[in-house]
Amino acid sequence: MNSESLQLDRSAIISHIAEQIPRHSLAAYPTPLMRANGLTALFEGTELWFKRDDLISFGLGGNKIRGLEVMLADVLAQNASWLITGAGVQSNHVRATAFVAAYAGISCTAVYWGKQPATVDGNFRVTKMLNAQFHFTNDDDRASVDTHIQLIADNLREQGHRPYAIPRGGACVRGVLGHVLAVFELYQQCLCQGLAPDAIVLAVGSGGTYAGWLLGIRLLNLPWKMLCYTVSREPKQVSQQVADLATEAAALLKLAWAFTIQDAPVYGGFIGQGYGIPSQEAAEAIKLVGRTEGLILDPVYTGKAMAGFLYGLQNKYFGDYKRIVFIHTGGEPAFFAGTGDWLNAGL
Ligand SMILES: *Cc1c(COP(=O)(O)O)cnc(C)c1O
Repeated sequence: MNSESLQLDRSAIISHIAEQIPRHSLAAYPTPLMRANGLTALFEGTELWFKRDDLISFGLGGNKIRGLEVMLADVLAQNASWLITGAGVQSNHVRATAFVAAYAGISCTAVYWGKQPATVDGNFRVTKMLNAQFHFTNDDDRASVDTHIQLIADNLREQGHRPYAIPRGGACVRGVLGHVLAVFELYQQCLCQGLAPDAIVLAVGSGGTYAGWLLGIRLLNLPWKMLCYTVSREPKQVSQQVADLATEAAALLKLAWAFTIQDAPVYGGFIGQGYGIPSQEAAEAIKLVGRTEGLILDPVYTGKAMAGFLYGLQNKYFGDYKRIVFIHTGGEPAFFAGTGDWLNAGL
């Protein structure tokens, strides 16, 4: 097939699939796709680009807004009156959900694992400002969030409310479909800008975003490789979760596609001491990108993914990739939270 008919084919797929994904748009799209001139000069032979989802123009931005836009269409269709979700106290997803609830004029409950911290800062400050009710599980096991979300939803229902529970971290099929739309957006943007990427770099937490990218890339049959860095779970566990979510989301589009862990490779080794704990490598990556590109990565997700990606570049893992797009998924509030000098801890 020549490239023109391939393009026609893809735009037909985009309209056909997008029709099946109702979304309540909250921001102006597309987000900017910008060439990283300073980094490109540093790493000769590989052109680097940033897709600025950190600039999504709603609720402090970040990838979580894309998933929530698809969920919001469902929330409004069901006439739900209360959003409940959860994660860690500095969660971008919880903050974004609280923004969506406030904007839609409905109530919100945030469920956090662990004990309530003595300080109020970063995303927790924003979430409280938005009048979200919050609840700490007093259990460091993150799965405690899942059971508490269910309990609270059941309680609210008994009281006559119409709760809408969003799984921890926003990792659910509708969220995944929001990221399928992001793939469509980037594809069309690349056509306009005359860019043909070889690979996409992504930070991976609960895996919903990656699942959407996998599915979107397969739908359009794009030659884009995914370079994904886990910041939380073990690579194998994430790959399984991503494959399952992508399979489930495909089913919602009436496609009997099965994704396996081989379809969802994930790089490990850059988590550092744990989820949410700044690492030396991430600090170095954040400083390099800040000083060369005029943008801020976060210490929890994008900083660690960038650290892993830079390591790969330096060690020539991606030899034949000429153009690579790093998805800046947001998370800046964590950069400003707290008083620790983690950026300079290793100096
Ligand atoms: C949540 C998040 C991610 C990862 O998205 P998942 O869908 O949870 O894998 C990446 N970057 C930032 C800034 C995030 O908040």
